[in-house]
Amino acid sequence: MAYCASRFHTVRRPTREVAVGCVGVGGTNPIRVQSMTTSDTQDVEATVRQSIALAEVGCEIVRVTAPNVQAARCLRDIRTGLTAAGFGGIPLVADIHFLPQAAMEAVEHVEKVRVNPGNYADKKRFAVRDYSDADYAQELQRLHDAFSPLVRRCKELGRSMRIGTNHGSLSDRIMNRYGDTPLGMVESALEFLRIAESHGYRQIILSMKSSNPKVMIEAYRLLVERMGAEDMHYPLHLGVTEAGDGEDGRIKGSIGIGSLLFDGLGDTIRVSLTEDSVYEIPVARALADKAMSLWGASPAGGPGSDSIDPFHFERRATATLDVGPAIVGPEQPPRVFVRAAGAGQVAAAIRELASPRLKDNPAEGLVVPVASAAGLEQLRGALAGAPATIGFIALELSPAVAADAVEPFLASAPGTGIVRRFGGADGAALSEWAKLVRRKGGVLFVDAPPSAVRDLRSTLVALGDAGLAFTCSVFPADDAGHSVGAYRRIVEELRAAGSAAPVWIRNTAGLAVRGDNSFLSRLIEASILTGSLLCDGVGDIVSFETEPDPARAARVAYNILQGAGSRISKAEFVACPSCGRTLFDLQTTTQRIRAQTAHLKGVKIAIMGCIVNGPGEMADADFGYVGGAPGKINLYVGKQCVQYNVPQADADARLIALIKEHKKWAEPEPAHA
Ligand code: SF4
Repeated sequence: MAYCASRFHTVRRPTREVAVGCVGVGGTNPIRVQSMTTSDTQDVEATVRQSIALAEVGCEIVRVTAPNVQAARCLRDIRTGLTAAGFGGIPLVADIHFLPQAAMEAVEHVEKVRVNPGNYADKKRFAVRDYSDADYAQELQRLHDAFSPLVRRCKELGRSMRIGTNHGSLSDRIMNRYGDTPLGMVESALEFLRIAESHGYRQIILSMKSSNPKVMIEAYRLLVERMGAEDMHYPLHLGVTEAGDGEDGRIKGSIGIGSLLFDGLGDTIRVSLTEDSVYEIPVARALADKAMSLWGASPAGGPGSDSIDPFHFERRATATLDVGPAIVGPEQPPRVFVRAAGAGQVAAAIRELASPRLKDNPAEGLVVPVASAAGLEQLRGALAGAPATIGFIALELSPAVAADAVEPFLASAPGTGIVRRFGGADGAALSEWAKLVRRKGGVLFVDAPPSAVRDLRSTLVALGDAGLAFTCSVFPADDAGHSVGAYRRIVEELRAAGSAAPVWIRNTAGLAVRGDNSFLSRLIEASILTGSLLCDGVGDIVSFETEPDPARAARVAYNILQGAGSRISKAEFVACPSCGRTLFDLQTTTQRIRAQTAHLKGVKIAIMGCIVNGPGEMADADFGYVGGAPGKINLYVGKQCVQYNVPQADADARLIALIKEHKKWAEPEPAHA
């Protein structure tokens, strides 16, 4: 089963071109960046103003919600206002849930209509019911009858359509047959796609969104594979829904969208943030530009796939390593290392990393570059004078530092790690270093490109895995692929060598796709590389080395681990980006709830502007804070609404009371407070 031409190089997936007004999506078009207004759609002036603001920062397609027929009628005036302001080339998309009547009105005025197959013409009862084949066929016929008028009208008017499936808002029919799974998401879209094709209508874009990047990645891969089997080649709209705000929202979006873009999938993207929508555009732009910069590369040949099952998550089984008091290996969460710029920075880095602020995201190893034997002495002095200790030190040695020079250091500090670059012809040196490090009870981190790991195979077979881990800090100059592919190839080479050695994902400047030094760019690069691999089940240690501040580097590494669902170090917030349906101020509410509950490690809280997609939208959240009516909040435990119409002024306190009642509350420690 293949979903992309190569898992090592970015080979763009060929698709048909879909015209969204005068903006082409798919085919040979660039990746289009889009967003959504958050104003009340019936406030035409505000919606036109927001649409213009989005267009001015580079948004190429603007989506507006149409919750009812009146709102859908307003789209005509919004279209007119946007065109009159000189933005006639910006297509509008009507976002439809439930109401075919709203869709039929909206299609008259805008260039594209988005329908959610989980709720289009479907009143969800969240009922468990067995569907016989005859029942199912009857349901599909009902769907055909309800959906066909919109398809026919889109075709007559030359409008395009997005069939936008959301994890957690699948129809009862799909839920009962496939469950809340990536396969259910895919089947849900295919049902609608087949109806559209039965009318000869193919101006369609598809999406498979989830707030969980792992689920979202699997669903898109599966969709592409299923469409390929049916000779369907529709463009994809990529997005991680309800990603939240700030750094966490950017990380989640980058993991999900970036991972797929690197595999050549995706033709238009939306980064959902619980912030003003204009802030989504720079993130989306950076993601699109990074991916498109890889398009020109020609694959170096060789197999396009690896042995990882891309449709089912399974963590790679590895050997065990001791890194100070922490253990790397099976049943262990990925460990976090940070890097000091040199021996001169070690004392300050250790002091900062020992701060109580980092109690929940401690650095578990400190990497220190050492360029010479004199540097070893300097480091020894720095460690002796450091105001605190750190669990594990790894010396990143320049090739100029000989094993003889390092041996005394290792003798005085057993258990120290050695990070050293090896080429394909360095088998003898690798054996020598591995033996030295093993004698001293440490770990040898073999920093090597995939081609070197391949050439070192016989040495690796002879050495075995004890005390070895692999990493890659510099992208090979002769490789036309990308950093995610380089790590995937290393894993394949290790497998071929019979090695289960752990893998350390290093985010270094030498692996960056584009050398933009802004924090956003570095954050996106790290999220894509680390997150893609973690979602493939690869990665036992991570480090964010493009960040010079050690405390910040540790925090970001933990946030990426949390975004990928690999290691939970704090509360998690699933917050919708808000739209014209929103019943309260999402941004301030999210910030307020986060301020009170962020210390609740492992607790997941969903903050949703409305319940349009049903409680399933909150996926696996423990608690939900959901707009029920203007000024009224519904509170959920899991998918169960337990308090209706709570006045908003009381809702925070009631939410906290619920968390306490369910024994998930802890008082904040002084560091959090
Ligand atoms: S959950 Fe949020 S983004 Fe989704 S429709 Fe409701 S208000 Fe809009």
